[in-house]
Amino acid sequence: MTPSRNHLFRAFRDAIPAMDKALVIHPDGGIETYADALALSGRLANLLVARGVKPGDRVAVQVDKSWPALALYLAAVRAGAVYLPLNTAYTLNEVDYFLSDAQPTVFVCRPQILAEAKALADKVKVPCVETLGADGVGSLTEAAAGQPEAFEDVERGPEDLAGILYTSGTTGRAKGAMLSHENLLSNAAVLRDDWRFTGDDVLIHALPIFHTHGLFVASNIILLSGASMIFCPKFDAGEALAMMGWSDHRPTVMMGVPTFYTRLLDNPGLTREATAHMRLFVSGSAPLLAETHRAFETRTGHAILERYGMTETGMNTSNPYDGARIAGTVGFPLPGISVRVSDPESGRILGADEIGMIEVKGPNVFKGYWRMPEKTASEFHDGYFITGDLGKIDGAGYVHIVGRGKDLVITGGFNVYPKEVESEIDAIPGVLESAVIGVTHPDFGEGVTAVVVAKPGASLTEEAIHGALDGKLAKFKLPKKVFFVPELPRNTMGKVQKNILRDTYKDIYRNVA
Ligand code: AMP
Repeated sequence: MTPSRNHLFRAFRDAIPAMDKALVIHPDGGIETYADALALSGRLANLLVARGVKPGDRVAVQVDKSWPALALYLAAVRAGAVYLPLNTAYTLNEVDYFLSDAQPTVFVCRPQILAEAKALADKVKVPCVETLGADGVGSLTEAAAGQPEAFEDVERGPEDLAGILYTSGTTGRAKGAMLSHENLLSNAAVLRDDWRFTGDDVLIHALPIFHTHGLFVASNIILLSGASMIFCPKFDAGEALAMMGWSDHRPTVMMGVPTFYTRLLDNPGLTREATAHMRLFVSGSAPLLAETHRAFETRTGHAILERYGMTETGMNTSNPYDGARIAGTVGFPLPGISVRVSDPESGRILGADEIGMIEVKGPNVFKGYWRMPEKTASEFHDGYFITGDLGKIDGAGYVHIVGRGKDLVITGGFNVYPKEVESEIDAIPGVLESAVIGVTHPDFGEGVTAVVVAKPGASLTEEAIHGALDGKLAKFKLPKKVFFVPELPRNTMGKVQKNILRDTYKDIYRNVA
């Protein structure tokens, strides 16, 4: 293996087409070149080392999306550290757990929480706290300005970690998925080739960069193609359509969660003409309704390319670039990746069209959960990672996802594990028990919905539940609606029948715009 195939940053460096080419384009048209990326990430890498970061150390980051935040990711990789981005919606209570578990050397937070972050860092023994604001300003960038640009990238092997992403478990306890240089590099290279990315591409990047989709799929592909991306702080359908009409840095590709596409469809500006210069629309992180796929194709002539992946594996399957992109399917296994379906009870490998547990094997599959060797071992089946998604592979080889074995709720592209929300609700005085389900929502894909049983004599209201949960959980995990019932439906084994609840409440968000 050549070094560039081992080291994520070296591969990015080797892909730079010209130093004065734009890597990041701001929505106002300003640019950051590849030379700027080398310079800022070099300064930040020197700063991280000066702050005591050694190879293998974690650099935890909970900041808004910005150009310096992207450079910080590159800096951590260059310094041989493990980049650990955290969802900006996580509360301090949740961050406490992540910092205690991951024990980073540096924690970079938003300036507005500095005092609380410092107190937390003292408690959990994180030696250094820096700030970085949405405007790209903070103690981090101020200190980096005094550092040299030149930085010798720290050697790393393919098995060494480049990132950790936390993902919630069915038990409610988040697990850190350890991703190596090889995991990230192999997946970005496969996707670049499969989706035909070149240096001529300009991506509309409106995803957050604390999640695998926006960071390890979108940003890594652009870096590995020597291409450019318009870095939007958040998705806005009107803005995205306006960008598609730019004459300079005209976009060619958009990646999004299904919500982006339903919002575009709601905008009368979405037409064949408006999208004429786009070559590709990619969707993932949650199921894209076949109806959305069809409506988008009718309006624009573009068949959205749906792919399937997860934090632990990066991308596993994709509808074809050339060939039929079938609505309601997630396409074929990507090159070098094996996908199979097994019987969840017996482990027997199933044949075409038989529904079971989707399992994945390949260079994309993570190195395990941080400091949880037993949990890691239990999630593998003869070398295949057990995804927790139920599905089938049809006779033509297309993978279909039919449900989520782990009862995950995906709202606006973010995962919510019911158990975690249920535990918080159950702790509220007056609550006997609760069940949290995902209910089809026109805007979010699914809306988190709680069904609560009160203790005899207790009088509870939806407002009281909301009030008690506020600040305990990230906003996206909070139930959009709370219902009260005398008892939860259960099967003979005593398990709550969530399918019955989903059916009962299936229309509650129908008229929510
Ligand atoms: P995350 O780890 O946040 O990326 O979430 C991964 C989960 O999202 C997967 O295990 C699937 O349940 C779901 N997912 C991702 N992409 C798709 C898709 N195209 N269709 C259906 N579910 C998806």
